[in-house]
Amino acid sequence: MAATEGVKIHPAVDGGVRPGNPSFGGGVLSCHCTTDPVAIRINAQTSHNHICGCSKCWKPVGALFSQVAVVARDSIQILQNADKLEVIDSAAAIQRHRCRDCGVHMYGRIEDKQHPFYGLDFVHTELSPDRGWSAPEFAAYVSSVIETGVDPSRMGAIRARLRELGLEPYDVLSPALMDAIATHVAKRTGTIPA
Ligand SMILES: [Zn+2]
Ligand SMILES: [Zn+2]
Repeated sequence: MAATEGVKIHPAVDGGVRPGNPSFGGGVLSCHCTTDPVAIRINAQTSHNHICGCSKCWKPVGALFSQVAVVARDSIQILQNADKLEVIDSAAAIQRHRCRDCGVHMYGRIEDKQHPFYGLDFVHTELSPDRGWSAPEFAAYVSSVIETGVDPSRMGAIRARLRELGLEPYDVLSPALMDAIATHVAKRTGTIPA
């Protein structure tokens, strides 16, 4: 078992995973700009919150992983400074809308109606001062942190720390989400009944 002392994952979980509040109904997310921040309101609790090691999700400075959750796209409302939002890559499956001044990603949106996750937006609830957002449940794309510069020799300690936090490490998405994707594909192709 690798030593986990000093292994930092993400500020939201390094001190232990805080439980969400099932009756929590949403809140406001703001970017990091000290003047004229972009603000969006989410009128719902998030789901499938997780820690992500991919190179595309926004991470706070110094964090190895991002924390990202999903919410229905119609529950997001831009409150202010929408003109500062820009899409990083309009060809990507998930179009990440970031603040052009501070670089924080406010939401990631899927425009392809055939995509298994169409209708869901990706958000980082750490951008909200409110408590009660759904807690992270697992860690996705863990091996991908090597592609962002982590020494492969550290992976044992990183996976051990994630397990210690109750965040099962996966190198893609969780089995539940991978099954949801495969089910969507199998129904679309008629392999299983829709
Ligand atoms: Zn900003
Ligand atoms: Zn990611």
